[in-house]
Amino acid sequence: MDATPDRRFDPLSSVRNQADGGFDLILAGTVFQDIIFTGLPHAPEPGTEIWSEGMGSCPGGVANQAIAAARLGLKTGLAAAFGDDGYGDYNWKILAGQEHVDLSLSRRVAGWHSPVTVSLSVDHDRSLVTHGHPAPVTASELIGQPPPAIAGIAELGLEIEPWAKAAHQAGVKLFGDVGWDPSGEWAPVRLENLQYFHAFLPNQREAMAFTGKDNPWSALYALADRVPVAVVTLGAQGAMAVDSETGEEEWVPSLPVTAFDPTGAGDCFDAAFIMGSLAGWPLGNRLRFANLCASLAVQEVGGSLAAPGWGDIADWWK
Ligand code: ATP
Repeated sequence: MDATPDRRFDPLSSVRNQADGGFDLILAGTVFQDIIFTGLPHAPEPGTEIWSEGMGSCPGGVANQAIAAARLGLKTGLAAAFGDDGYGDYNWKILAGQEHVDLSLSRRVAGWHSPVTVSLSVDHDRSLVTHGHPAPVTASELIGQPPPAIAGIAELGLEIEPWAKAAHQAGVKLFGDVGWDPSGEWAPVRLENLQYFHAFLPNQREAMAFTGKDNPWSALYALADRVPVAVVTLGAQGAMAVDSETGEEEWVPSLPVTAFDPTGAGDCFDAAFIMGSLAGWPLGNRLRFANLCASLAVQEVGGSLAAPGWGDIADWWK
């Protein structure tokens, strides 16, 4: 996919405050190293060796959203921790050198190894193996940085709460997603955090776990009671959303594509939805655009590096 922002397509040019020169989007979180194996014949069994058809290695975690946003032309700042190892070197180089993501708010963490996620795809279904711990940027590194930001996205963890609150009070429009939390023990705290957010975009499994509902529609409406814009992504079934500010409700089916690698699809969806939101598009267009971008991404193996740029999208988005 095309990593060079194509300035011929810039839906934000009319809404951006040219004078402030700041970011369109600041992302906060941890950069993981993703290693992706696709086309496995079956899940590995203990004591056996299997071969994959495809393999990719790329920046992961919050880097997924950063790369997807930058490829759509958003002036993207990343406030993230990077490991003090070869993966950290590689990811820093890709993001800053190749993907046009501004890392002036990021840092290397001395003595800390990058967390690694190995993704194993069998029949387009995925298992993940993760090692390591997030090293979140602290609130003090972000608060007051920099006022011109018009949007931010964050994982709704405990560590982000002070920043989310301060950013919200400073008038920053926050978009949030959530990492999978199998224990569910953070859910009550995270639900409280929603009060600071403009939009929340979990996948259906996360949305149901988060709200305690047993189906995605009920989960969507439960979220819509707490946040102005609630979105639930449905994998191969598309996505649905409620915008309580405009009264819009929409569901869009996914595009009928062959999904080789769903790694980072939700993050690609988030970045595209944010772009449409900042450009002031109606909810249906925001959803359709995000769905299109994510469906282009899943057709390629490559995780974050499969996110489309305008050169890939232009033929499909008239
Ligand atoms: P990830 O954790 O990989 O970032 P997610 O689990 O958060 O993803 P999903 O709901 O699985 O998010 O997918 C996000 C979006 O990606 C969907 O709403 C859809 O637009 C697109 N997508 C995912 N899987 C497919 C598929 N098989 N075919 C077409 N589009 C897909």
